[in-house]
Amino acid sequence: MSVLVRLLRGIWSLMLGLGVTLKNLFRRPVTQTYPHQKPELSAAFRSAIALVNFPASGSHDCVACMQCVNICPSFCIKVEGDKPEGLKRKRATVFEVDYALCSLCGLCIDVCPTNTLKYSKTYDDVGYRRDQFVYDLLTPFRAGEAAWRERARVAAVEAAQPASAGPAAAAGEPEVGR
Ligand code: SF4
Ligand code: SF4
Repeated sequence: MSVLVRLLRGIWSLMLGLGVTLKNLFRRPVTQTYPHQKPELSAAFRSAIALVNFPASGSHDCVACMQCVNICPSFCIKVEGDKPEGLKRKRATVFEVDYALCSLCGLCIDVCPTNTLKYSKTYDDVGYRRDQFVYDLLTPFRAGEAAWRERARVAAVEAAQPASAGPAAAAGEPEVGR
């Protein structure tokens, strides 16, 4: 192959490359300048599980039934609970998840009888040690827990009143759990 042919081929190859560059120069970027730009997450994005905050009660509805603990194939959920004064159902006092072990299988979400588990949209947690990925899911609820328990206790007392005691009692048990 002569020097001239090789030169022409080189120029043609260069022009092809520049053509691709020019074509993409004015297109909408498909990359994002993270962390300056926050990513738009797909609706199907899954991250560490979290407790649902129900607007009606202003809290979660974990009754410490242990179904999520028992079904988790990664053994990464720890739940403890107690029975608040005046209530029939238990209430979670400890809810930890070791996200370093979680496979995001969703079995815990599927099995929860009160639908109080969901996937979170966390995407930027980092750490140097595995134990930094043990999440306390009750953290967002601790500040309001005492108030929730008091509201639930009052609602349970009102619901236990005979129907003749007043319109509040006649309306049935208030929805305190969710
Ligand atoms: S998503 Fe799966 S692996 Fe993760 S905590 Fe729930 S049951 Fe366990
Ligand atoms: S299955 Fe639901 S209600 Fe039962 S312990 Fe797990 S999160 Fe709580």
